[in-house]
Amino acid sequence: MNLELLQTTLDEMGEPPFRSKQVWEWAARGAGSYEEMTNLPETLRGALSELVPFSALSVEHEALASDGTEKALFHTTDGRPLETVLMRYRGSKHSASVPNPSGGRRSLCLSSQSGCPLTCTFCATGTMAFGRNLTASEILDQALHFRRKEPVDHAVFMGMGEPLLNLDNVLTACRRLPDIGIHPSSTTISTVGWIPGIDRLTEHDGATIRLALSLHAPDDALRSELMPVNDRFPLADVLDACRRWHDSRKRKVYVEYLMLDGVNDRYEQAVQLAGLLEPRTAFKVNLIPYNPTDSQFEGSSREAIAAFRDTLEERGVPTTVRLTRGHDIHAACGQLAVSR
Ligand code: SAH
Repeated sequence: MNLELLQTTLDEMGEPPFRSKQVWEWAARGAGSYEEMTNLPETLRGALSELVPFSALSVEHEALASDGTEKALFHTTDGRPLETVLMRYRGSKHSASVPNPSGGRRSLCLSSQSGCPLTCTFCATGTMAFGRNLTASEILDQALHFRRKEPVDHAVFMGMGEPLLNLDNVLTACRRLPDIGIHPSSTTISTVGWIPGIDRLTEHDGATIRLALSLHAPDDALRSELMPVNDRFPLADVLDACRRWHDSRKRKVYVEYLMLDGVNDRYEQAVQLAGLLEPRTAFKVNLIPYNPTDSQFEGSSREAIAAFRDTLEERGVPTTVRLTRGHDIHAACGQLAVSR
């Protein structure tokens, strides 16, 4: 829902100031239409249905994977594509704050841009044309789409785009996510290492949102090959910015490291990575099995990933291996381009 349009429309209709809050509260709790907003006068509900589209996004395609992961392809009103993924986890990761009949975590993977201007060689989004930054309402509408299906409690900005290139809109959206059930401490912004954005997150006065860094290589030469943005913001500077964020926010930075066969998965590279992350208190590593895209890379074997993890752990770096989900619908990390 375009919240600015909602506000100006209500103002023009001479409605009292609390109306927009009422509408937002219904939407944030998963209402599917203005008709459901029973504390709004009926004529107003009718007028809003005409004047303010219920969502700023149209659903173009939906897909459900065998593991329960669901992907939606949306278009903005000016026809820009973007994708959002809901990951449904069964079992123990119970979140007490949001009632959820099946008990598992519900995590949204949100897009911050349509396409991405960066050109990371392993990522499918990098190969599509960059469209534009998404507005705060377009970011929230991704969450509301899934909230209408069921409660959600986590969000990661790991869909399309580089969130720190659209930080104002991302932060505006984050301020409203708690109303939908997603707290700042359950929200993660993932970045290629865009230092000005990391510095802003270090300094901003709002609640702390978690930070993830897509690192993917333990030295500048390889990282620049994989992620051209590294030429602009080299590794040592990016890690320093992350340490400043850690010092101010008192949270560990999640380091994401994609496992590419024969490229960045050797023993020496694990040793080098462990060295880079000293003092290790600021970081936690998440090794990411590579999801196939049309790129030239192959994913590392399960054994290579386990060995890499052991090397890091032996050196005191806490390391986990990410479960990949949504494979069969191309909803896994790095597979979000708009072909189906
Ligand atoms: N631009 C931000 C957020 C989007 S990418 C960033 O780069 O962090 C979200 C995560 O997906 C990143 O860690 C990215 O490196 C990872 N990713 C990209 N392509 C992938 C692929 N093919 N397989 C697995 N993970 C991938």
